[in-house]
Amino acid sequence: MKYVRFLSANGPQWGVVEGEQVKTLTCAPYEGMEYDGGSVNLADCSLLAPCTPTKIVCVGKNYAEHAREMGAEPPGFPVLFMKGLNALNTPGGEIDPPEFVQRLDYEGELAVVIRRRASKIRAEDYAGYVLGYTCLNDVTARDVQQHDGQWTRGKSMDGFCPVGPWVVDGVDPDRLEVTTRLNGSVVQQGNTRDFITTVPKLLEFITASMTLEPGDVVATGTPAGIGPMQSGDVVEVDISHIGVLRNTVK
Ligand code: MG
Repeated sequence: MKYVRFLSANGPQWGVVEGEQVKTLTCAPYEGMEYDGGSVNLADCSLLAPCTPTKIVCVGKNYAEHAREMGAEPPGFPVLFMKGLNALNTPGGEIDPPEFVQRLDYEGELAVVIRRRASKIRAEDYAGYVLGYTCLNDVTARDVQQHDGQWTRGKSMDGFCPVGPWVVDGVDPDRLEVTTRLNGSVVQQGNTRDFITTVPKLLEFITASMTLEPGDVVATGTPAGIGPMQSGDVVEVDISHIGVLRNTVK
């Protein structure tokens, strides 16, 4: 299944993509799964982030090669941080950093959307807690992150978390190609088989400390090749079997 969330005349609405059509749902797929009998053209939909999180939990340095490019050894356990909900941005949305940001980086990542409340789960049970997977750009004001010595401000500026374009289930999260393109040129190319901590183990680790709620998002870390974006750039996060998240920089 491929789940989308879009802006309808009545506000945000969920649907399931079937070909060029979206069959509309009465509520979020993690609140129930009921079609309302309507359908719309996918091409006519103004897509929203396909999630309604209470929190966005992110993993830093989950690929050894990226840890090394940041001047660090691969960590022995998942390093977690969070992005504020103010950072959520839409597929196709503009990334509009404050003027004082000197270096604005892309970080293409696989994201997990949670289906069912998850607390202290075991890795082997992870699949029942997951709605599916989508693309996420962990946009980062690198100069601010380095200046502050911790990550909250540099990672959580308004619009610094584009997510989408949809959530896809039935894929193996630890066998996906993650590609980031800047103005059409490939700048990051990784495969989630190279994760230091796999998705099942990440969910076990996170839920040992914090309950994940339906609609919550877990960003799984970025591969090597991070770099800056400039005004007018088009950035795409392309994940095999999922799709392409495309945003522009104002
Ligand atoms: Mg990241």
